[in-house]
Amino acid sequence: MSGLGRFLQFMPNEYVNSIYDIDLERLWRMGKRLILTDLDNTLVPWNHPWVPKSLEDWLKRARDRGFEVCIISNNRSQRVHDFSRVSGLFAIGAARKPRSRGFRQALERFQMDADAAVMIGDQLFTDIHGANRLGLYSILVLPMHTKEWWGTKILRIFEAVALAMLRVRGLKRPHRQQQGGGGFGR
Ligand SMILES: [Mg+2]
Repeated sequence: MSGLGRFLQFMPNEYVNSIYDIDLERLWRMGKRLILTDLDNTLVPWNHPWVPKSLEDWLKRARDRGFEVCIISNNRSQRVHDFSRVSGLFAIGAARKPRSRGFRQALERFQMDADAAVMIGDQLFTDIHGANRLGLYSILVLPMHTKEWWGTKILRIFEAVALAMLRVRGLKRPHRQQQGGGGFGR
């Protein structure tokens, strides 16, 4: 692959404003049964310690429909473990996405094939690239907040370039809306 083509490894299957804009019914009809998701700036702002009501409702809706939900995060094991405890979600920390290990571990834990899983995340080079490498259906969301780890801030510069290239290939950026009632301050 050369030129623009090499950016296609980062192309998400969907690009939406937030998890609240994901059509869970449609995913179910597509045969998806396992929702793998990033944590920071996807489910909650970076290092946010508790589960807001909006997320609680969303998780209930997903689980009532029959989905399994699992967090895969590159953040510290302790942070991810703490969030796993308050949310009741199985969670894999220090996953080093885009590496395959965390994704594989999750598929194994829930006894699912790659084509039954979706991966949701706010970062192209970790969440989406990692998912695409394993053939998982990938959903990119806008980051919930501008506050993030310094390493992520640097990656965002390169990510902006990649996103511009993907827009040339037809990726549509969602309009940023008011987040779904999370009530997070700045
Ligand atoms: Mg994230």
